[in-house]
Amino acid sequence: MEHFDAVVVGAGPAGSTAARELAAAGARVLVVDRSSFPRYKACGGGIPLRTARLLPFPVDSVVEDSVHRLDVACRGRMRFVRDSGPPFAHMVMRDRFDALLLEQARRAGAEFRPETRVERVELNGGVRVMGRGFTAAGQYLVCADGAHSPVGQMAGLGIGMAACPAWEVELRATASQLRRFRSRAMIDLDNRPWGYGWLFPKGSVLSVGVVLPSGRGGRLKRTVVAMQERLGLAGADVMIARGHKIRFRRGHEPIASDRALLVGDAAGLADEFTEEGISYAVTSGRLAARGVLRALGGGALRRYEADVDAELMPELRAARLVGFMFYGMLRRVPQPWMFASAHLPFLWHAFFAVQRGESTYAREVARAPLLPAIATRLLDT
Ligand SMILES: Cc1cc2nc3c(=O)[nH]c(=O)nc-3n(C[C@H](O)[C@H](O)[C@H](O)COP(=O)(O)OP(=O)(O)OC[C@H]3O[C@@H](n4cnc5c(N)ncnc54)[C@H](O)[C@@H]3O)c2cc1C
Repeated sequence: MEHFDAVVVGAGPAGSTAARELAAAGARVLVVDRSSFPRYKACGGGIPLRTARLLPFPVDSVVEDSVHRLDVACRGRMRFVRDSGPPFAHMVMRDRFDALLLEQARRAGAEFRPETRVERVELNGGVRVMGRGFTAAGQYLVCADGAHSPVGQMAGLGIGMAACPAWEVELRATASQLRRFRSRAMIDLDNRPWGYGWLFPKGSVLSVGVVLPSGRGGRLKRTVVAMQERLGLAGADVMIARGHKIRFRRGHEPIASDRALLVGDAAGLADEFTEEGISYAVTSGRLAARGVLRALGGGALRRYEADVDAELMPELRAARLVGFMFYGMLRRVPQPWMFASAHLPFLWHAFFAVQRGESTYAREVARAPLLPAIATRLLDT
């Protein structure tokens, strides 16, 4: 049986980033995924520029479009458009984007084992990871196995976090439809009680989807169909349609032990304003690599959790406050709030600056000292 410094389960952005940074530092790393790559992942594929900036290699080869127009409506009405000037986000197909990140990990020296579902782990003075006809041993386990995180649960971590459902369809689009939606992201807000539908343009397909609060999963498909109809895409050829949950760490839920840690969606690191998760997956992958390297040098792996608390949780809390405030206003006074949103340019300057990595939600919230109180009040009533 082979022995590694770290076994990473899951080759999404979180796992591949952790593996790349570990291998680049000289650690022996095995990455295991139940799928063969490239593989589909239900996702809008919106990569804010700040996410691309976290990566030490270009992503141009997998960028399908870059958006600078944001088209906003509330349940198909009160529409307005904002232009960010330079683009604020890239659009990617997750199969190609994730394959690029994995390739970078392999180039750095990580070993990859596809089509291997991990079904059991033992953490006992080391790590043993098992699947059908497969066993690997290591010093530390990185659970990068996504929002359901079965392997995290086997390690006793990440249990009881909040979650919400999302659904995505990829539509084969005609040349004129592609032209119509090029370089713009469309967001259709839902204020009953919150959520949004999106249309994101890609090279040859359009990604249309919706995210809703927990308990509203039954509305996902018909909300997407209604959005397609509103956008004149009712008869479009659906190439793929799939749902997945998004998971949120809201407090101090344990994400590290002596031998294992959680990264990305497994750790509930997605923001509750835009539901974006890839930037946090990449950052937590980097923190995980730092944590494992420190542990290999004699430190405690659990310190990774304190790193996440210090470096990621303030931003996630700030995004949550912005989300509460934004949707709270939209629920109570939809028309005045959409009117104000359309006519307050500083809101969108701030939003685009965050997306481009020139600011953060935490910095923007700090500029508005009353925001936490307003958001909490809107949440309570
Ligand atoms: C519909 C939808 C739309 C979204 N849109 C966006 C967006 O536009 N922009 C954005 O930033 N974020 C978006 N997100 C969130 C984003 O998809 C996630 O935050 C991101 O994929 C997290 O990456 P990850 O590496 O943690 O997990 P994943 O990308 O989910 O990777 C987990 C990997 O673990 C593997 N795995 C799972 N279990 C096992 C097992 N037992 N054994 C072996 N392998 C296993 C899986 O095969 C998978 O490859 C969206 C999410 C959803 C559901």
